[in-house]
Amino acid sequence: MTIVADLHIHTVASDGLLNPAEVVELAAQKRLKALAVTDHDTVAAVAEIMFFGKQAGIKVFSGIEFSTEYNDSEVHILGYCFDTRADTIRQLIRKLQESRFTRMEKMIAKLRSLGYSISLDEVLRQAGGAAPGRPHAARVLVEKGYFKTIREVFSALLEKGRPAYTERFKLTPQEAITAIRAAGGFASWAHPGLSGKKEFLADFINCGLQGIEVSHPEHTAAQEGLYRSLCKRYGLVVTGGSDFHGQNENNSHDLALHGLNEQELDAFSRLCRR
Ligand SMILES: [Zn+2]
Ligand SMILES: [Zn+2]
Repeated sequence: MTIVADLHIHTVASDGLLNPAEVVELAAQKRLKALAVTDHDTVAAVAEIMFFGKQAGIKVFSGIEFSTEYNDSEVHILGYCFDTRADTIRQLIRKLQESRFTRMEKMIAKLRSLGYSISLDEVLRQAGGAAPGRPHAARVLVEKGYFKTIREVFSALLEKGRPAYTERFKLTPQEAITAIRAAGGFASWAHPGLSGKKEFLADFINCGLQGIEVSHPEHTAAQEGLYRSLCKRYGLVVTGGSDFHGQNENNSHDLALHGLNEQELDAFSRLCRR
């Protein structure tokens, strides 16, 4: 099967290593016809990737990946073909960004009460413009000589059950799906095989889910077959991609290794235009 579209790509706007121009250059080398950047909780790279895609003759769809929680399971929801300037999407992204700051403020308060000298400014400087997260706080503590490695900070302080652990704000799949649809797009369940809870599907369809990520590096051939048949049964669109982040150890997440064939891209594009 020839992959012509990779619809799950991360850039420097979230936790990827390449910038939009580099992603498009690589996509052109791999002879992709279409791609979508799906950064976590942000559309910051979408306009740029569309600009470079146009120059390279590669069709670019808007995209995003939201982390949500459903019945104690982490569920990732992909959004495609929505208006990135729509209020619903903008508001949801802002809410998530604010929640990251609030979480970091709480985490820092806990660390300080435990006797560590650390401030929000130091963590933000460490994050360098990206949304502040636990790895940034951990790096500050390593640089100040409290610990040797980031791993040690996590297991001593920041992991679930440790004294400075702070609960994250959790979006529901319904909130994500609703915002994406209200912005004119459609939602797909990202790598459902990682949670293994296919019984969630009916609930998500009731919330307005319209696709399943069938092709993904973490899916077995059997899972791919299962999700493909579920798409057929419920009239959902097949999506797929490499979950590319840049370099990875065994190259299993290389760009264009997973994605859509010509026929699947046609079906995806038809839903996109609707
Ligand atoms: Zn994911
Ligand atoms: Zn991803």
